[in-house]
Amino acid sequence: MSKSTIAIIILSILLIIVSGFVLWVLFFYPINNLNNTSNTYQKDPIITPPPTPKTDDNRLSAEELEAQRLEDEKREAELLEEERLRAELLELEIIEKRAIILEESRQLARGYFYDEAITLLTSDQQLINHETQALEAEIQSQKDSLVLFDGTIKHIFFHSLILYPQNLFPNLSTPTGGYNEGFIYQSELFRLLPQLLERGYVLYNINDIFSKDENGVMRQNTIYLPPGKRPLVLSIDDPSYHYNKTAPRRYGFATREILDEHEELAPEVPTPSGEISVTYDGDVHIAVDAFVKEHPEFSYRGHKGAIASTGYMGIFGYDLNELQDSAIRQEVIAICDKFKENGWIFANHSYTHNRTGYWGPESNPNNIRYDVRRWRETIEPITGQTNLFIAPFGFLLRGEGMNVILENGYDIYCTVDFNQPIAVHSTHAVMGRIEIGGYSLVRYTNTLNRDFFDVASVKDSHRPPIISG
Ligand SMILES: [Zn+2]
Repeated sequence: MSKSTIAIIILSILLIIVSGFVLWVLFFYPINNLNNTSNTYQKDPIITPPPTPKTDDNRLSAEELEAQRLEDEKREAELLEEERLRAELLELEIIEKRAIILEESRQLARGYFYDEAITLLTSDQQLINHETQALEAEIQSQKDSLVLFDGTIKHIFFHSLILYPQNLFPNLSTPTGGYNEGFIYQSELFRLLPQLLERGYVLYNINDIFSKDENGVMRQNTIYLPPGKRPLVLSIDDPSYHYNKTAPRRYGFATREILDEHEELAPEVPTPSGEISVTYDGDVHIAVDAFVKEHPEFSYRGHKGAIASTGYMGIFGYDLNELQDSAIRQEVIAICDKFKENGWIFANHSYTHNRTGYWGPESNPNNIRYDVRRWRETIEPITGQTNLFIAPFGFLLRGEGMNVILENGYDIYCTVDFNQPIAVHSTHAVMGRIEIGGYSLVRYTNTLNRDFFDVASVKDSHRPPIISG
């Protein structure tokens, strides 16, 4: 082969290679490149932020950390403060609660509720401290120091209070009976109550003095009181108020008992100008309630006394006709319930309050039967059942008449007796009472002075003379 042929062959091969490269460049490269471009758009949508210079990055982090640290410190301090305030509040609450139970316990103990006072002091562990423990010990020692009372138990009774004597007694020099003899002035009650307290008297429930044993035999119970204290039974007679209603302005005492807007008892008393005054001291019961509130030691475990209610004139200013009305009846029942809640009990004081043929020397057992039946029909559904009979005029029934009383469940019978004897029979107990009124202020001055209060400092100097005196 000649040299020129070889050169041509080499040149041709080179030409083919170069052409091939040119063709590849022209046709294939652009397609691949386009494909690559579209892939880039699909595969990489996240835009990476441009990197910040390294030195700046370090400085801001430290500031942030410091701010964070300060923020944490502040929050921690706030939490601690909150916690401290919460603890302080809790401590204040405890102090406040403790002060309340200390005061309540003292009051309870003053009213002879020793166990209740100790329970109150010990029931909440959180409140117990040296103060509650000291008071608990003091109350326990009061309870332990009670002594057996072995003297004579007194029983006094009142009628309504006279608030406006000028209405009743326009002429003070005219000797007067009736209200002047049987009633006391409001001012006199206010003066004698503190004296009874000073002399150690404690209002006591007659039902706690006498009770029947397991064989149904009547017994006089033992009584334990603090040294120097003595039980006193109190009763209030004839709270019908009815006699006042016919001419209310003539009288100076309560004409009706109501429940006020707070469901509290309030006797209504007509004033001399003819207005009706709603009072909270206008009769014996409400004045005694107020006095005991101030002096819990005057009442044994909240007891006040007995309300001796008659029948034929209704009760508390609501006559028998009015009591037929169911709304009035419910209201009077609520009034009686309030009396009970305030520590009063009710007694049968007879339906008729009639001396002739009933509660006097010529008493007829059939009349007694009628009387008791009528009281139980008319008044008992209002006051509730009672075992206490307070005899009108203090008349002591005997024989069949007394049997009627006993058959009807009355096993404590009260008379009027200034020597105050107590007689305990197997079936019943009899207790004498002393009336506190104009008559006894004059006729039993010595007895009253000796046993209850200083008459001269109690008796109103403007009382008219009493007829019997
Ligand atoms: Zn009476």
